[in-house]
This record gives sequence, C-alpha cells and structure tokens, in this order.
Amino acid sequence: MNNSDSTNSNENFLEQIIKNDLDNGFDNTKLRFRFPPEPNGYLHIGHAKSICLNFGLGKLFSAPVNLRFDDTNPEKENIEYINSIKEDIKWLGFNWDLECYASDYFDKLYDWAIHLIKTDKAYVDFQDQETISKQRGIPTVPGEKSPYRERSVNENLDNFQKMKFGKYNPGDCVLRAKIDMGSPNMHMRDPVLYRIMNTSHHRTKGEWKIYPTYDWAHGQSDFIEQVSHSFCTLEFEVHRELYDWFLENIDQKNKLIPKQREFARLNLSYTIMSKRKLGELVDSGLVEGWDDPRMPTISGLRRRGIPPQAILNFCEKVGVAKRENIIDYALLDFCTREVLNKISYRLMVVFDPVELIITNYDENKSEVLLAENNPEDEKYGNREVSFSKNLLIEREDFKEEANRKFFRLALGKEVRLKNAYIIKGESIEKDNKGNIKKIFCSYDPKSKSGSGSPESLRKVKGTIHWVDKNNYEKISIDIYDRLFKIESPDENKSDDFKAQLNKNSLKTFENACGESNINNVEFDNYYQFQRKGYFKLDSRNSNKKFNRTVTLRDNTKF
Ligand code: ATP
Ligand code: MG
Repeated sequence: MNNSDSTNSNENFLEQIIKNDLDNGFDNTKLRFRFPPEPNGYLHIGHAKSICLNFGLGKLFSAPVNLRFDDTNPEKENIEYINSIKEDIKWLGFNWDLECYASDYFDKLYDWAIHLIKTDKAYVDFQDQETISKQRGIPTVPGEKSPYRERSVNENLDNFQKMKFGKYNPGDCVLRAKIDMGSPNMHMRDPVLYRIMNTSHHRTKGEWKIYPTYDWAHGQSDFIEQVSHSFCTLEFEVHRELYDWFLENIDQKNKLIPKQREFARLNLSYTIMSKRKLGELVDSGLVEGWDDPRMPTISGLRRRGIPPQAILNFCEKVGVAKRENIIDYALLDFCTREVLNKISYRLMVVFDPVELIITNYDENKSEVLLAENNPEDEKYGNREVSFSKNLLIEREDFKEEANRKFFRLALGKEVRLKNAYIIKGESIEKDNKGNIKKIFCSYDPKSKSGSGSPESLRKVKGTIHWVDKNNYEKISIDIYDRLFKIESPDENKSDDFKAQLNKNSLKTFENACGESNINNVEFDNYYQFQRKGYFKLDSRNSNKKFNRTVTLRDNTKF
C-alpha cells in the first residue's frame, strides 16, 4: 500500500512509522514501547508528553509499555525520585507492563563491553576528560587519536578488569569504543562507555566501581527488553548512529533490533523543563519543594489542582511534532478550565469581606437556601446555604458611585445575591479613615431564586456572591502567578536563570470567608469558588488552605 493512502491526518508521524513497519511485515505481537526516565528528579509536564505518547501508542497498538529507570548515574539518583515517578505515571492513569532498571543489566552490559574489547572495538584510555574532549576537535576536522587507542586486547582486558575491581580511582581512566575519530558525527569519535565512580548505587549498592554512560546503556537496555520502537526527544537524533553501531557490534543472536526515532520536546512558556534546573530551585529554597504548585512538575500541577484529564487533553492538543516550539501556558489553562468546569463542586467564598446589612430583613430570621452543586451536571445535587440579615460580600463588588459598565452593587442600584434575593444599595457607613465599614441595602422578599415567582425571574444586570456573617468559615488561599518573568527562561543560556524568577508569583489571602459547606470539602474533589476561579484543598495543609488552580476565564481562544 502506498504510504500516503494510509495516512490519516489525525495520525502522528510516529504512528505512521509503526504502521509502515506493520505494512512491511513487522509482527504486531512484537511491538513493545518504553518510557525511560532517569530517576534524578521529579517528572515534569514535558515527561507527561512522553508518557502520553508511549503509553498512547501502547493502547493504540495493544502493545506493552515498559517503565524503565535509566539509573546509570548514582551520584544524582535516588529512591525518592523512583517512587515519585511511579506515583505520577499512575496518577496520569497509565499502567506499565514491566518495571525495569538499567542497573539490572549492569552484568550484561559489562559482558558486552568485554566482547567489544575482545573484538578490538573498545580500549581503556588513561587521558583526562579535558584532553579527550580536546582531541575530539570539531566536526569539520578529523579528531586526534588517543595514544592508548592501539594497545593490545589483553592489555585492555586487564585494565578494564582493574577498573571494575576498584584498582583505579575516578578520573584515572575510562573505557572508550573504538569507532572513527574522523567521523563528522562527534558522537562517533570514540565515545566513552564506562567511567569510574566510587559512589554507592541505590540498588546495586557498592557492587560496582564503574558505571555505563547513557549511550552505552540505553540502546542495549532497549535491546534486552526487546523494545521495538524507542522514541526519544530530538537532541538524541545525533546519537542514533551510535545507538545503531552499538547494537550492530554486540553479539545479538537473531533478536529484534530496536529502532530509535525522535520527536520534539515540549517547551512551555514562562517555565523551565529541566529536572536539573527545577532541582536547583528546590535546593535553593526558592520554591517550597518539587510539588510547589508553581512548579511545572506533575506533582506540582497535581497539588495545584490540575486534574489528570486536563494534562492528557493538553498533551493531545499539543500533538507530536518534529520541530521544537514553545507552547503557550494559556493552552494548559484552557484544558484545565474545560475539565474543571464539568467536575467542580461550586461554593461561595469572599476573599476580601465587607459587611452587608439587609435593613428590611427580620433580625431573628434565618433561612436555608438551596444551591446547585454543579450547574453543568445535576447528578452533583444541591447544597444548603444559610442566609440572614447580616452578610459578607466582596469589597470590590461595591462602589458608592458606579459608571455604566459597573454591573455590581452600588448605591441606588440593584443586584442579585447568587442563589438568593435581589437587593438594592441604600447607604453606607465609613470608619474614621474613610474606608467603607458597612453597606446597607434593602431586599425584595419575592425575588428568591428558584421560587418561580415573577419577581424571581426578573433580570438584573449583575449577580454577586456572598456568605452569611453568622455562619461562615475562615480559610486561607494561595493565588499563583507565573514562575518566571520571561517567556522562555530555558533559552536563557546563562546559569543564572534564577534571576528571571517572578518574585511576585505567590499571594496569600489569610482571611477569606467561605460558606459553611467549606467544612465538608474533600481532598479528592475539585471546587469552583463562584466568580473567583477553580480551587483545590492543599495536600500539605489540612488546615483549610486552598490553592487557586486557575481563574475562571481568559480571552485566549484555542
Ligand atoms: P531533564 O533534562 O528534564 O532531566 P531528560 O530528558 O534528561 O529531561 P529523562 O528522565 O531522561 O529526562 O526523560 C525521560 C523521557 O522523557 C525521555 O524519553 C525524554 O526524551 C522524555 N522527555 C524529557 N523531557 C521532555 C520534554 N520536555 N518533552 C517531551 N519529552 C521529554
Ligand atoms: Mg536524560
């Protein structure tokens, strides 16, 4: 079949590669993918894209997907990261087939290194890193060969074993593949396979003194697991030649050879996608931790209140591209609102309260009003909200004198109290500094929402939220802004990316007042504070602290 005939416009190019392989006779029961994080930090939304892609292909082709920890650098890796990675993948709703560790393959990798040495394709080099880099030179000019390159197989075997058994110190020597110092691809100029490290590994403990490099471990791990298609980000395109060379030069015994292909990294505006840099923010105390709600980590997004479905929808909309670009953070916000609108319980919360007194409401009376939990879905049912003569409303929802565009409460103007009555501003009382202390208004007793009376159907220009001054709960709310001041802090090559942090990315309202139903909020649910935005109970503070996930609207269209 002609490729263009089978091309569906919704299909991404990686799906097409797989379909092509199947069309050319590849056995579909041999399909297997993997997601290969290095456990040196928490996952970020860039990883979510890779997760959606690999597990998405798994679903599409009914093929297994391995979770493989690329744990080849014990200096930076630990078990906390492993656990967080597993938790994040599960939270996104994916299940892996095998849980694998590159460190489980250290013996096999060692045997293959011996095989390379024996076939005169690897040697131990005693030069330092700086000299080795210098000799590599530049792509247009062949590099310089190491003086250790032509040592005998036996000498190399002996030295490599000494490396393994700790007879040398870190930095004394490395094992290099003997490929081509003249290759225009710098990665083919005798790359390093092993370096010596006196660091205990979180799994193999003190067993190894030598650790494989990424290049040496990755393709071989794919091969051991018989991964059919190994998808990675574009920066590895230049490593592909080496990936293939290694697989050709180990003794592979008629097994499936994995195919590496590359896709564009996800970049998101006003934030960074690098575990190393995110870790620096954590270590220097500039954020509260990996799960700080301003962080682009999956744990940060979760704590902020972004539901997993919003992240999946976002990754779907971003798609799989061959070229890098920066995705507008507003797209993530859009996907978040779209999901939260459907699943959030509504509550009323006043952030900056001012007292409102209904002069013609009986002092001794109080009522229980019914309000919908979620107007998008009646299955969510109703809640009871108490109402009395004394209420609290948002200070910014009142103006003594309003212009024509102000549709909230003003003297002489009418407004509806959400789920309750129509009121009219009558007079105010100020303190000696001139601040409004109390607002007096009258109400129309026949205008009760939902009562069906003609007055209840009367349209007024605005609706405002409120809480009963005799029955409310104090809560604290954190409002977040962008973590960075500039759109692409990742492109800021200087290591001082921290100087670009937005110093005003967190604002706390300590004394917000929520309707009494706030006592019943559950950690697993999502909430909309009406007219204010979407909020989530904070996972670290049981003491009624909420995080604002996102505002209610934004004018950006997608
Ligand atoms: P970081 O620089 O943040 O540590 P990494 O590429 O070193 O990222 P890994 O743990 O090696 O992180 O990544 C696991 C997988 O996720 C790899 O296949 C990698 O290509 C992919 N990945 C990492 N960052 C992104 C991103 N921003 N967009 C898409 N995929 C990504
Ligand atoms: Mg990496």
